[in-house]
Amino acid sequence: MFNLYELNPRRLWVKYVFALGIILFFLVGSHLIHLTVLSHTANDAKIINIAGQQRMLSQRIAFFATKLNTPSVLSEDTEITSSLAAAIKRFESNHYWLLKHALNSDASQQMYFTPNGPEVDRLTKWYIAEARKSISSSDNHPLEDVIVNLDKMASKPLLKKLDDAVTLFADESGAKIERLEFLQLASLGMAIVTIIAEAIFIFFPAQQGIIRSLKKVEDQNQDILLQNTKLVSLSHDLNHEINHDALTGLKNRRALKEELDVCVQGYRSGSQLFILMLDIDDFKEVNDTFGYPVGDLVLKYVAEQLNSLCRREDVVARVGGDEFVIMIESSGLLSESRIHKLAEDIISKLKVPTILQRNEISIGVSIGYAVAEKLPIDGPKLISDADIALRKSKSSGKGMALPYRADMRDELEAHAKLLVDMMHAIENREFVSYLQPQVSLQDGRITGFEVLGRWNHPEKGVLPPSVFIPMAEQVGLIDQIDEIITSDGLAILAKLRAEGYNVPRISINMSARSLRSSNLCTDLTRSVTEQGLAPNDVLIEVLETTMIETSADQAVSTVTELSDAGYGIAIDDFGTGYSSLSMVVKLDVSELKIDRSIVQEMDKAKGRQALEAIILLAKQMNLTVVAEGIETASQFNTLKGLGCDIAQGFKIGRPMSLDQTRRWINSYGKNVSDGPMLAFENLY
Ligand code: C2E
Ligand code: CA
Ligand code: CA
Repeated sequence: MFNLYELNPRRLWVKYVFALGIILFFLVGSHLIHLTVLSHTANDAKIINIAGQQRMLSQRIAFFATKLNTPSVLSEDTEITSSLAAAIKRFESNHYWLLKHALNSDASQQMYFTPNGPEVDRLTKWYIAEARKSISSSDNHPLEDVIVNLDKMASKPLLKKLDDAVTLFADESGAKIERLEFLQLASLGMAIVTIIAEAIFIFFPAQQGIIRSLKKVEDQNQDILLQNTKLVSLSHDLNHEINHDALTGLKNRRALKEELDVCVQGYRSGSQLFILMLDIDDFKEVNDTFGYPVGDLVLKYVAEQLNSLCRREDVVARVGGDEFVIMIESSGLLSESRIHKLAEDIISKLKVPTILQRNEISIGVSIGYAVAEKLPIDGPKLISDADIALRKSKSSGKGMALPYRADMRDELEAHAKLLVDMMHAIENREFVSYLQPQVSLQDGRITGFEVLGRWNHPEKGVLPPSVFIPMAEQVGLIDQIDEIITSDGLAILAKLRAEGYNVPRISINMSARSLRSSNLCTDLTRSVTEQGLAPNDVLIEVLETTMIETSADQAVSTVTELSDAGYGIAIDDFGTGYSSLSMVVKLDVSELKIDRSIVQEMDKAKGRQALEAIILLAKQMNLTVVAEGIETASQFNTLKGLGCDIAQGFKIGRPMSLDQTRRWINSYGKNVSDGPMLAFENLY
């Protein structure tokens, strides 16, 4: 129950009640003893008093008896006699009272009754008897004898005995009171001891317990506080994680949305809100070429540069793989030109080559931006506007910053619609071949036709490749379009031949995607054979950029396969790429098609020299040279003079439908090889 060390505050009252009970017990005891002492003291005082009276009465009796014997006093003196009688009576009654009340100890019993000693009882009774005799003195008992006896007795030994009795009673009383007082003191002492014990065993442990409990509570509080701090920092971390991009530390899409919402809500007219959307150009190639770790470094680097160029209050966020958004709010001080300048600064700063993991990398980015000026602001639309401007800047050649314009959205929507239309167009085979003639510069004969794709759009009419080819390339539908146009071209060739037109060959443009298909040669040969044609009736035009993009292999082996199968191979737009010569060396090429841009520059010395060099090269390598984009007679004649083999261009004939082609051939001179060669000048 009293465990000093374990203290249950709820059970503490039991200890208190117990301790108080003990204290109360001792206090009540002490009080009772005290009362006993008082009553004993009173009793003893009476005993001592009466014992003392006996002493005094024995003297008085002796005195009165003596007085009775004095000659001057009459023996019949009644006053003395009655006083003597009263003294005797009192002496006697006192004696019996003492016998009854005072003899409480062996010593007192002995003093009064010891048989052989001069005991008080016997002496007293004898003395009383003697005294009575003095009153009724006779001759047998002469008064003188009585007085002598009384005197003898009164002085000794009765007086002595009575003295002793008084002393004995006083001593016994003193001893008893001493014992009781000791008991009372002991009781009080016990109460005090209990109080001290209570202090030691209850109060002190309770105090210690309370201190321990308080300390425990304090520790728990401390713990709770610590936990709370941890929780707060955890929730802070979590919040940071939720709102930030782990790689760059920038805000993420979610945080951007929140910031934008806040900004839109607090937007005041007169201020401006800009959204810049930025996308890294050809980021996929960075990853493909240098690997993902370097890709990550590029993203981090871009994030750092953006932070360094923006103000602290601007929000810079990474919202996708390589997409970033900057939100700039200003109280009307920023003009659109400032934002455009910022965008251009970002572009040029990132373009400066930097070393990332020992690779020198120059980062190209495209930016689109939009501004909100009028209330109410539509946050998501603002982002979407910037995104549209970004896409426009991407499709317009990358590496530039464009502001959003309303017509961009229309364009985009039209573009999206066109994409849907294109998928239907493939299903419905709405793509057809137009033919552009190629003639010999030496004898004017038709050498063939280039097949150029057209889209017979049910609503929009005939659409040129510039409308659908980039889109088809982007979404990966170009090879299906190539296939439709090729089979249409082959069918037209077969048809024209069947109709008696002498068309030596057709050239077909093959996209990179088509050339990457390992089935191309087989499929093409099947189509060619189906039309009753042979591979050498077909020339495949390959763009330099195709081979760079695919960086070899499948496209190269397809071209080799085609060449081995008997198809002619022409390098299209020759002289515009970077690897013209390496292409000529790598591939089994039969023709070079000089690009229109070079033909158009022939009037300038440099252009002319380039033209001459290409023709010379082709001659030395035994390749046929075709010049395209001939628009004037002088271009025609110059090329003829330079020894170029074949001419193609609007001056000779535009890309034409089958009907137009028939008419063109008819007017150019059906079956020219049979008749006189028509001079170009004569024709136009
Ligand atoms: P390309 O292969 O260089 O074709 C020649 C382009 O130059 C044609 O444009 C033609 O109309 C144009 N052209 C010809 N002579 C002249 C001239 O004297 N002056 C001017 N200004 N232009 C001239 P088109 O038909 O719009 O085709 C554009 C490009 O689309 C072609 O360039 C070719 O790369 C691509 N293309 C056309 N059809 C197909 C196809 O079926 N498949 C693939 N993959 N690409 C095709
Ligand atoms: Ca071509
Ligand atoms: Ca070309």
